[in-house]
Amino acid sequence: MASEGNPVCRMCRREGVKLYLKGDKCYSRKCCVEKRPYPPGQRAQGMQRKLSDYGIQLREKQKMRRIYGVREGQFRNYMKEATRRTGVTGENMLQLLEMRLDNVVYRLGLATSRAQARQFVSHEHIAVNGKRVNIASYQVKPGEAIEVVVAARKVPPLVNAIEAAGGRAPTWLQFDAKQFRGNIISVPSRDEIDTDVQESLIVEFYSR
Ligand code: SF4
Repeated sequence: MASEGNPVCRMCRREGVKLYLKGDKCYSRKCCVEKRPYPPGQRAQGMQRKLSDYGIQLREKQKMRRIYGVREGQFRNYMKEATRRTGVTGENMLQLLEMRLDNVVYRLGLATSRAQARQFVSHEHIAVNGKRVNIASYQVKPGEAIEVVVAARKVPPLVNAIEAAGGRAPTWLQFDAKQFRGNIISVPSRDEIDTDVQESLIVEFYSR
């Protein structure tokens, strides 16, 4: 149950928005952001401080990092790579995060959360172009095929996730539920990524 003391749900309350970290529970009335829409702490309600520009940028950075479940050092490395690439740095950053294998498994509807997707990858339930890959941060590429290995096609949480997703996948992915297989059509553009973050604030945070 999503309780006040749940450390995962506390992250959402800290950021003041739903980060969708707990799969189905996030869409239920048990979501504690809906029940307690203020930061954790007994005296927090009605006492939120006005944040400085730095504070706003920091919170946005933490929000994005928590949504994708990436550690601080790894997140900084993504920002370095996003800055090095041509194009808009914030969009590059989102693309790097979206092209992680755990995120793609989640987006294909093979898992109800990115945390569950990471678990499926680390348990070697997922193959890329026919080869098992157990590295959640693996960067997928357009043209690659992501599939559930035969031995994992009856794993109940995976089967339930596929049923719940009903074959829906974003436009840059294609999914065939019967084959337990998805394809990467392209790198997503910003308007194909529904992550509710202001990436420009994060770029400003790292430009300081
Ligand atoms: Fe917990 Fe999900 Fe609600 Fe966040 S969105 S508070 S993870 S149930």
